[in-house]
Amino acid sequence: MAEVLVYVDHVDGAVRKPTLELLTLARRIGEPVAVALGSGAEATAATLAEHGAVKVLTADAPEFTDYLVVPKVDALQAAYDAVSPAAVLVPSSAEGKEIAARIAVRIESGIITDAIDLEAGDEGPVATQSVFAAAFTTKSRISKGTPVITVKPNSAPVEAAPAAGAVEALSVSFSAQATGTKVTARTPRESTGRPELTEAAIVVSGGRGVNGAENFAIIEALADSLGAAVGASRAAVDAGWYPHSNQVGQTGKSVSPQLYIASGISGAIQHRAGMQTSKTIVAINKDAEAPIFDLVDYGVVGDLFEVVPQLTDEVKTR
Ligand code: FAD
Repeated sequence: MAEVLVYVDHVDGAVRKPTLELLTLARRIGEPVAVALGSGAEATAATLAEHGAVKVLTADAPEFTDYLVVPKVDALQAAYDAVSPAAVLVPSSAEGKEIAARIAVRIESGIITDAIDLEAGDEGPVATQSVFAAAFTTKSRISKGTPVITVKPNSAPVEAAPAAGAVEALSVSFSAQATGTKVTARTPRESTGRPELTEAAIVVSGGRGVNGAENFAIIEALADSLGAAVGASRAAVDAGWYPHSNQVGQTGKSVSPQLYIASGISGAIQHRAGMQTSKTIVAINKDAEAPIFDLVDYGVVGDLFEVVPQLTDEVKTR
């Protein structure tokens, strides 16, 4: 069976959920060979094996943390040369997309970004994308070289599928560009204790209807009762009520959770672009004509200041 390279996103050995989702998709098109780089790379092996990795290629070097993405691209290329895979899968994070683009250029292959599904096809993997502000769903296949595909978080289930997970050290020689951009400082964001927006299974978002930074406390309370991440529309972000890192939409982040709850958000096309692929959409809006209601699975016409706290109380009783 053909091998499929899976680039591993991890933090000090803790594998992030989008990588486990990639393993589910990789198993549809071949045998997953994982590439884990940097500090804690070897510690990823057990988790990766539990989710179907037949092999885990690891490398650690100061270059991975001291410089931007090129050393990681060098390592991925070393893995590519060693394995000659049928496809290369990378999580659709900002860094993942840069790594994928660079490796595609190097190996002279086509690239598909932000896939939301992947299946085996007679002439190679077929990727599904949601395009033009989610107005269309397309299926495409790469016709040149080895397919390089980035996949959005929450696009596939995490499945246990025990495999060998044999660990092999990858020998990497860094290219001349590897040390081109040095990282001078890393400032970790203050943790809210909530899940990362793009990876969360549930997102609760607030818009202009929330009417003030202080009122986001009710959105956060609902989010916390559900173990959800908090999102915001651009109107709320532009008003300075919530950080841009939480903006959902065309110029913010794209989310695809199991459940998206929009409160006081009208449903402009640019907002929809970032959340329309959510599995179940709920809106709370006092205007029954708001466009968001065209999109929802469940809609509540009402004042969010009444509905959201009631919902939070109800969730807490369960
Ligand atoms: P509004 O459109 O003002 O809607 C507020 C809603 O709240 C209304 O429907 C109202 O009925 C309801 N409401 C008010 N009070 C209450 C209450 N008490 N209870 C219940 N409901 C209430 N937008 C994004 O979100 N993300 C983007 O990434 C983004 N990118 C953009 C990029 C470009 C190039 C452009 C031009 C625009 C972009 N926008 C983006 C902006 C977008 O067009 C909308 O202006 C924005 O999404 C509106 O935010 P909103 O729904 O919160 O506000």
